[in-house]
Amino acid sequence: MGADYSKALWVACKNFWPGNKGMDYVVIHATASGGVQTAMQLATGSEFNDGQTASVHYINNRDTSQVIQVVSEANSAWGNCCATGNSPFDHNVNWNWKSISIENVKYSNDNSEPLTTWQYQNLLDLVRDICHRHTIPLVHGSPTQRGILFHHDLDPVNRARCPGTFPYTTFFQDLQGGTTTPILTPTHEVAVYPQSYQYEPNETGDACGFYANALAKAMGNPSGTQPALTTEQVDVLADQYYVQYNGQNASWNTKGMAEPTQQEAMLNSLGIPFTHIAIDSNSDHNQDIALITAWLKLGYPVIVLIPTASVYDMDVGAFIYGGSGNHFITASGIDVRPGFAGHLMYRDTANNGPSPRTYSNDHIVIYHAIAINPPWLPQRPDSFDPLQGGDQVEIPAGWKDDGTILTAPNGHKVVRGFRNYILTHPWDPGDVPQEEEHGQNPLEAYYNQPNNTGTQQIFLYTTLNWNTTRNVYKMGVGNEFLHTRNDLIACRAGAKP
Ligand SMILES: [Zn+2]
Repeated sequence: MGADYSKALWVACKNFWPGNKGMDYVVIHATASGGVQTAMQLATGSEFNDGQTASVHYINNRDTSQVIQVVSEANSAWGNCCATGNSPFDHNVNWNWKSISIENVKYSNDNSEPLTTWQYQNLLDLVRDICHRHTIPLVHGSPTQRGILFHHDLDPVNRARCPGTFPYTTFFQDLQGGTTTPILTPTHEVAVYPQSYQYEPNETGDACGFYANALAKAMGNPSGTQPALTTEQVDVLADQYYVQYNGQNASWNTKGMAEPTQQEAMLNSLGIPFTHIAIDSNSDHNQDIALITAWLKLGYPVIVLIPTASVYDMDVGAFIYGGSGNHFITASGIDVRPGFAGHLMYRDTANNGPSPRTYSNDHIVIYHAIAINPPWLPQRPDSFDPLQGGDQVEIPAGWKDDGTILTAPNGHKVVRGFRNYILTHPWDPGDVPQEEEHGQNPLEAYYNQPNNTGTQQIFLYTTLNWNTTRNVYKMGVGNEFLHTRNDLIACRAGAKP
């Protein structure tokens, strides 16, 4: 017997029924403890071990990052019994038999305080893990939909304030935005697009940027079948903005789209939110592809500016354009076909073949990229890092942040990816920088990783590293320290270093 969730501490409690009648729902609670109570105190207290009062499967602690499992998922805990009042759930079923329950520790007696940052992150991770193992969809459940419930969904009469204050509006987006893939169209794209081809007789051949922006307006929700605009409407919209910005729409007019000014002005005019991505003509190619891939995995398409000569169409098996011009296209999905898997798929309005097209990641060069924020997904700020999977921002107590520079109480500063990491992960306020970020080669002396150069910043208890392969990560300082200490001992004993 042990924890079903690998990150949980297993503490068996006595209150449960053996077996279950289908694990169809995850039910979220909060304890309303009415005083300081740790998850361990609850797990080992009489309430969960007296053979009659209550129990849950998991307890998510408040003040320190800890998840305790007290009942096996295969057995039924007593967190929620029966539907009351106007709950749409069957009032004659004991829902304990069909659910996995999670208590979030709160100290107020009315569950009025919000979850702490790490409590929320741990809850997201735990719910994803349970749902993944039991193929429960990451959606709000109903009598006809397996999914996730809040206790008040079942018992609005007696448990109206369970779990109480909770990020209800963002919870399901955050759940889906983490490690799961978004809903995709049958073509494995993040949105439904109309077919679109930018060339028409006697009109400019340089309207690709205008078409890419018009396609952003044309995106349809991937769970549906229809784009928001037709092929003809995209054409009209692109032509209209071309004329407005560049004058006559004629074949001799080769002004194209000025980037970023015209590109962003048109998106703003169309009311399409977007996020700048840290890609330019000098940024690392693999990192560029990794960033765009990460945005797509979260469900956001990316408009990219590329040199035409870098387009290798994998279905054609050739570089299809050549030339020395640049071109706007939209990365809209990730191919899954054998031999093509992982290569990005694009809506390219200069390519009249069946869309989307798969262009080889190995050849394509990215000069500039912006992520389009579809209306059905949360808007992401420029500080959002899709490789870190979140933008839950919490400044450690006593630290200061001005939006660019995070300053610790001792005056040391943390910037860019390291700043983002600290703001989006549980971070001990006492874990202060001992120095500024600096280039480091080798990045790790005793862990011989393939791409072993990058930047580093040493904190009191933690060391953050960055390289283009792993992005920002916590270094295995124990390994480094042990080897360093052994070398020092050997050195002092007279061995050659
Ligand atoms: Zn409850």
